[in-house]
Amino acid sequence: MYIGRFAPSPTGELHFGSLLAALASYLDAKSNNGLWLLRIDDIDPPRELPGASDTIIAMLQAFGMQWDQDIVFQSERSHLYQQALNQLQQADVSYPCYCSRKEIKQRTSHSRYDRYCLSNKTTTTTIHTHCAWRFKNDTSSFIWQDTILGEQRIEHSENADFILKRSDSLWAYQLAVTVDDAAMGITHVVRGRDLLMEATKQLQLAQALNLPTPAFSHIPLVKNDSGQKLSKQNLAPALSTTQINHQLYTALQMLGQKTNDKFKNAKITDILLQATQDWNPATIPLEYSTQIRT
Ligand SMILES: [Zn+2]
Repeated sequence: MYIGRFAPSPTGELHFGSLLAALASYLDAKSNNGLWLLRIDDIDPPRELPGASDTIIAMLQAFGMQWDQDIVFQSERSHLYQQALNQLQQADVSYPCYCSRKEIKQRTSHSRYDRYCLSNKTTTTTIHTHCAWRFKNDTSSFIWQDTILGEQRIEHSENADFILKRSDSLWAYQLAVTVDDAAMGITHVVRGRDLLMEATKQLQLAQALNLPTPAFSHIPLVKNDSGQKLSKQNLAPALSTTQINHQLYTALQMLGQKTNDKFKNAKITDILLQATQDWNPATIPLEYSTQIRT
């Protein structure tokens, strides 16, 4: 059975780019008679905006996208991430790293990790809590298929020994997401292309943990009128509950889907039903032709 999900981080409110990701994953799940689950990826408290989870949840409801099971909060699932890390440590594919970002930069002239702590392992007698844990990534290149973008070939150097748990004890995105997608039975991930590189790490981790992997579809990123991608960092305007019909209409158009002038006055549930029936992932463009005024 198809199980999809939308998994926002509560580091800000949803913007138009998040609406496209939510809508694409929702319609793909519903048109496959699947479930659509909601997970709040709240594992980075220092970057979180108070109240953002509630606003995100209310916004999805305002846009008529109803999830099918209880909301999953990553902040409540640390024990699962620790189990996965233990498993990787036992399999000798994770090692502690004591380097600061500054030290790595000084040694290597870029931010890519040079395996210093792997080769100096024997000098480390006690592993204290203030270390990061890295994934020992021995694959030279890794190839996988994105449903929209086709073959992805990632060289080792682009993806060297990424972090699983940070030295401040926070979990890395890719570990938490890999564990949860498998635990929730997610079969399909549809999301924005800003996470394309993360998919490779997720697939490598899933392989190391013997977990099933979802199919990935990465949709294009929305750009603002100066050509930058919409993001919380460049202060993309939050979605608003006014003109929901108009926003859904624009979102469907950008995703290359059929639209109907009747959508402008239709009930939101009716728009989503029609869009589910008409959903065709093959017509999602490689890039959007429109930019969004900000
Ligand atoms: Zn190190």
